[in-house]
Amino acid sequence: MRIVLFGPPGSGKGTQGELMAKRTGFPRISTGDLLRTAVQKRTPIGRQAEAVMKEGRLVSDEIVTGLVRERLADPDCRGGYILDGFPRTIAQAEALAFLDGERPEVVIGIEVPAEVLIDRLSGRRICSSCQAVYNLALQPPRLEGRCDLCQGPLVQRPDDTPEVIRERIRVYHEQTERLKDHYLRRGSYRAVDGGGTIEEIFQRIVRLLDGEIGMSGRKWVRA
Ligand code: ADP
Ligand code: ZN
Repeated sequence: MRIVLFGPPGSGKGTQGELMAKRTGFPRISTGDLLRTAVQKRTPIGRQAEAVMKEGRLVSDEIVTGLVRERLADPDCRGGYILDGFPRTIAQAEALAFLDGERPEVVIGIEVPAEVLIDRLSGRRICSSCQAVYNLALQPPRLEGRCDLCQGPLVQRPDDTPEVIRERIRVYHEQTERLKDHYLRRGSYRAVDGGGTIEEIFQRIVRLLDGEIGMSGRKWVRA
């Protein structure tokens, strides 16, 4: 099974992806996280990606597809996996079909009005040691500026500034949104209302997966 989380920046893919990973036992593969790790480690890919990400543009299909190809080869992906932030272009969707096209797939489109996205992203803070995600308005840490899990300092992502947020949303409309039609035509797209609390949205996703593909609670199958 492959679950693709689809939606604009700020729609909650990462948060919901983490919850789904815990629930299903499938690993969550976030190309944003893979790229940020490469940037931190100053690998050749990281060096190339850094400037592009800071501007809110898309890293090249070749680079991102290469990272995904490597990650999918890991043994923990054999039983199934959750993609977060990939594919983001038609070329990436085609590359994925080529890499692992036989696997049953469901695309969960988290749909959120534009105003909400900007609020969510500008309030987002990330733990600089364990990458846990907080939101000043919606999901504040217990102690200001500190991670609940590891006490690490919370920082703002360099691409969560108002100007770059606008650019990311523009790029989403220009390059990524059209994938919805692509997946609708294939019959694998399922829309989920992305408004409300984290738990409410998660329950919608769980219900959808339960109903659509007979995955039930903890018994979600590794197939
Ligand atoms: P968000 O979905 O909130 O914009 P991500 O953490 O998923 O954040 O991605 C951050 C940045 O990483 C993107 O703005 C883009 O520059 C790069 N990136 C992530 N995934 C991809 C992808 N599939 N293709 C191209 N660039 C990507
Ligand atoms: Zn932490």
